[in-house]
Amino acid sequence: MAIKVGVIGVGYLGTHHARIYSSLAGVELKFIVDENSAAAVAAAEKYKGRPISDYRQMLGKVDAVSIVTPTTLHHSVAMECLKAGVHVMVEKPITVTLSEADELCEEAARRNLVLQVGHLERFNPSVVKLLDMVKEPLFIEAERASPFLGRAADVDVTLDLMIHDIDIVFALVGDRKLVDLRAAGVSVITDRIDSATAWMEFQGGVTARLTATRVAGDKRRLLGVREKAVAYELDYQKATIMRHEKVGRKVQADSISVEPREPLYEELVDFVDCINKNRRPRVSGEDGRRALDFAVRINKLISASSR
Ligand code: NAD
Repeated sequence: MAIKVGVIGVGYLGTHHARIYSSLAGVELKFIVDENSAAAVAAAEKYKGRPISDYRQMLGKVDAVSIVTPTTLHHSVAMECLKAGVHVMVEKPITVTLSEADELCEEAARRNLVLQVGHLERFNPSVVKLLDMVKEPLFIEAERASPFLGRAADVDVTLDLMIHDIDIVFALVGDRKLVDLRAAGVSVITDRIDSATAWMEFQGGVTARLTATRVAGDKRRLLGVREKAVAYELDYQKATIMRHEKVGRKVQADSISVEPREPLYEELVDFVDCINKNRRPRVSGEDGRRALDFAVRINKLISASSR
C-alpha cells in the first residue's frame, strides 16, 4: 500500500519536497500545507494533493510528513506529528535548542517512528563518493557562502549554513573525540551571527576549519580534505571532486567522476525506505542533534568573545 504523505511548508524548499513525493512510486502525496493558502494551492495545482492551511487537519490521515517550515516552528510541528503517530522528515537544523531536539528524538524512539533530519549534503553524490575515498583525514576546510537572501534569518548562520559542514566533518572523523573548539563571528545585516569561522581539533591532531557567511557576493560551497600525500577538493554545487596525489616528486591531479543525482530526491527515497523497512535513517534525529550541539557551542563561543 502507498505511504500517504503531507508536506508542511511549501516555500522555497518545500515545493521541491512536494515535486519529488509526487513522482515517487509507492508514495501518495495527500496534503500540501501552508499557512499561506495561495502557496498551498499553487503547489497543489502542480503536484496534486489537497491544499490546506493547518497541518492538524491531516493528522490521522497521513503516515509521514516533511516539515519545511521556518526553523523556529520545527519543534512544535514535529512534536504534534510524532504524537499523532506520523513519521517525520524535518528540515535542518532539527530544532533551535538542544532540549527541543532531545524531546523529538525521545518521542520518535518511544513511538518507534522514523525521525530524519534534512542534512541534504550527505546525499550529494560527490560527498557520498568522498566519504568512501577518505580513510585518514588530517585537515578539513569547508567554506559555505551565500549572498544575503533574507531567508532563514530566524536563526544564526551557524544553524543555517555551517551546520551542513559540521555534519560532514562528523561523517569524516567518525567517533574521534573533540579536544578543542574555537570560533569567531559577527552580525552584519541581521541582529544574529551572519558570518562565522570555527576551528575544531579532534583526537589524533585531526583539524577542521569551517567558514560560513550569508553576506557574500556570490554562492560558494567548497570542501577540502587532506590526508597524508593526498588532497581532495570538492565543489558541492558542481558536484565535482579533484584528487591531488604525491607521486614520486610530482603531484598528479585527477578529476573523480561522480554520477549526477539530485540529493533531495535521494534523501526522500531514503526516508520512504526507512519507513518501509523500519530502519534508522542515514541522518537520524540524533545526528541532527549532534550537529546542532556544535552549532550552539560555536554560537556561545562567539557571543562570549564579543562581550
Ligand atoms: P521559506 O520561507 O521559503 O518557506 C517556509 C514556508 O513555510 C512558507 O511558505 C511559509 O508560509 C510556511 N509556513 C510558515 N509557518 C507555517 C505553518 N505554521 N504551517 C504551514 N506552513 C507554514 O523557507 P525555506 O527556505 O523553504 O526553508 C524552510 C526550512 O528548510 C528551514 O528550516 C530551512 O533551514 C530549511 N532549508 C534547508 C535547506 C537544505 O539544504 N537542507 C535549504 C533551504 C532551506
